[in-house]
Amino acid sequence: MATDNPTQITLLRGDITEEHVDAVVNAANSSLLGGGGVDGAIHRRGGPAILEECRELRGSHYANGLPAGQAVATTAGDLPARWVIHTVGPVYSAAQDRSGLLASCFTESLRVAQELGADSVAFPAISTGVYSWPVDDAARIAARSVRTAQRTVPDIRFVLFDDQALSAFEAAFEREA
Ligand code: ADP
Repeated sequence: MATDNPTQITLLRGDITEEHVDAVVNAANSSLLGGGGVDGAIHRRGGPAILEECRELRGSHYANGLPAGQAVATTAGDLPARWVIHTVGPVYSAAQDRSGLLASCFTESLRVAQELGADSVAFPAISTGVYSWPVDDAARIAARSVRTAQRTVPDIRFVLFDDQALSAFEAAFEREA
């Protein structure tokens, strides 16, 4: 639940599917039907219950898929979490500024987490894989968005898959502190 205490933000290197948190954020694609990268890992480790709920969402609220920048929750299946919050990052474009959509992934995911009553949320580095967002810039956007959404969830973690992403996020959060 929302709290008056400051949010604790933790940056760590690891596999997000192993994180013991209330909600794990998935860098999904708009089909919600699974993909590669962190999405594939979450569905593999979480089992078929997640895909089943995603299919139901496609049959109801999100017949045309989940638009970039929005977020929706499902069960976490067999993951050590209660929910997966699926959000769709924008594909990076050098010609068009899509940073508002990437920022929205963080703020909308936190809004959904707060609605669920989640006390802890783990984020991956959204859009920095197949969607090619430069990791330093993605980290800057993540840090700003989460700082402005302070106090929504008390425990926010960024689980970075490699050292380069971890360093980028550490630098960005230091700058935004
Ligand atoms: P996108 O399509 O939004 O770019 P990707 O899944 O391709 O999403 O990549 C997003 C980030 O997630 C990348 O930095 C990638 O290294 C990282 N990643 C991939 N698998 C995992 C995992 N199991 N745990 C945490 N991060 C992961």
